[in-house]
Amino acid sequence: MKTHNRKDWSLPEETKEVLRKRFKDLDESVHLAVFTKKGENDEFNQITQLFVKELSLISEKITVDFHTLGDDIAKKYNISHSPTVMIQPEKYHIWYTGAPFGEEGRSFIDAILMISQNDSRLSQESRKRLAELKEKRHVMVFVTLSCPYCPGQVINGFKAAIERPDLISAECVDASEQMHISEQFNVGSVPHTVINEKSISKGLEPEEKFIEELITLEKVELEKSYDDHATEQKVEVDLIVVGAGPAGLTAGIYGARSGLKTVVIEKGNIGGQLAITPVVENWPGFKSIPGQELMEMITAQTKEYVSILDNEPIHEIKVGKHIEAITSKRVFQGKALILATGTTHRKIGVNGEEYLYGHGVSYCATCDGYLYKNKQVIVVGGGNSALTDALYLHNVGAQVTIVHRRDEFRAEHHLQQSVKQEKIKVVWNSEVKEISGSKQVEKVVLFNNQSKETDTVKTDAVFVSIGETPMNQLAGQIGLNLDESGYVRVNRFGRTNIPRLYAAGDITGGVRQIVTAVGEGATAATSAFEDISHPYWQPVQKK
Ligand code: NAP
Repeated sequence: MKTHNRKDWSLPEETKEVLRKRFKDLDESVHLAVFTKKGENDEFNQITQLFVKELSLISEKITVDFHTLGDDIAKKYNISHSPTVMIQPEKYHIWYTGAPFGEEGRSFIDAILMISQNDSRLSQESRKRLAELKEKRHVMVFVTLSCPYCPGQVINGFKAAIERPDLISAECVDASEQMHISEQFNVGSVPHTVINEKSISKGLEPEEKFIEELITLEKVELEKSYDDHATEQKVEVDLIVVGAGPAGLTAGIYGARSGLKTVVIEKGNIGGQLAITPVVENWPGFKSIPGQELMEMITAQTKEYVSILDNEPIHEIKVGKHIEAITSKRVFQGKALILATGTTHRKIGVNGEEYLYGHGVSYCATCDGYLYKNKQVIVVGGGNSALTDALYLHNVGAQVTIVHRRDEFRAEHHLQQSVKQEKIKVVWNSEVKEISGSKQVEKVVLFNNQSKETDTVKTDAVFVSIGETPMNQLAGQIGLNLDESGYVRVNRFGRTNIPRLYAAGDITGGVRQIVTAVGEGATAATSAFEDISHPYWQPVQKK
């Protein structure tokens, strides 16, 4: 949300319309308490006040009052940051330290709805586990307003605080606005979760993992993939789509429109790589559009046709009479399955990269860029992603240097021109050999592969943008043919080597563009529809 010091600020009419529809689901009244202090983040204070006031005009079930940091109520709730927004402070301990804008607008509205409905929306397993909690917990989730993964983790904390208001409090902290608190907990990437003053995790977590960590105050790995109880819950569909990036979502639309009962299952957030692409300039029909906005449009359209289940990792796929996709919650049984699991970021593989991940080493410029406003950052890579990230970071206000291992970029000409125009510094023929720093990134060792010289360069962050590797664990586990780089081999109809299994999008390699992913999703779903009615692997019945 762009902020201006304007008294006439107002939500766009289409946003109000969406909120009017969503607030029809409000049950009990929800009280918002806003705390500000003149002279401290005035711009954010003003917009926060106007924003919550507008919410109260959209629904009479939302009431708002305003306080200053020094008043008795602020003292009662121990509020010391401006702005702070508390939701239903009489009953719950849930608040935003910073303005609930940008991506956090989503968690804010979800939290209002959950609180109004008095429902934590936790799974039965999580509720049972939380019922065992005996001591107090305070959850702090550090976010930036441009991080698409953050609202999911904030909601994890809020759900727990709604379920156990007697013991759990939860706070969403705008890391870039509250730098002194971020520095105290050494926050270098978001979402970053601190529980009872201990840094517990970096990144968005599945609900069950978060709840386990909340209880144990330790980082946990979920070993148990699913239990017998989960496999008792069968959901019968025609088409299972795995992955909710552009390919999976389009496959969902096409599957449902063909008349197939379709479900799209996503292990993390909806949107895939698109959700963290700062700007897309090659999606026909839009000269330039933020990746997140395009993703939201595709998601909204997909939801008109089909259910999208997010944060539900599939642990196993079984191919027998039916195709079964098993998650920790249930088993989906279908006639065909499309894998659209995409790719994940490639690592450089140097000393310090792992250790300093979340403390200056980042793979997501959109998420973490704001933390490095006015700081020195290095972007590694020479492809479309690296140059897009470099331009984004430059626009955020970071001092950017691109380090590339050759003497020319492979990125599109248009992006190269923009980098030149913006006078972004480039170090050619150079490789990062080491990243170091005690708590945060402080410097990198660069090796010039032409002169063979090494150089130590000071930097506050390293954004690694050197391409992708396929998320092929499920594909490998079922025995799909992979190419030498690990991408799933498909024919031009999206069919794999195993009948009834299809793949689409980045997981199949190739040019890996949003437009091609979308095309492949449509092709795979159409093939699945044709094959369900006319199985090509069965002999044609003679009449
Ligand atoms: P990419 O095109 O594969 O480029 C990777 C870059 O990283 C290359 O410049 C490569 O150097 C460098 N690199 C690879 N391994 C390295 C290592 N170990 N150390 C240092 N540098 C290394 O990857 P990408 O930019 O992430 O793009 C992936 C795909 O997504 C591409 O097909 C791209 O076109 C697509 N994409 C599409 C959009 C869009 O549709 N709007 C946006 C962004 C990306 P070399 O050049 O020397 O190999």
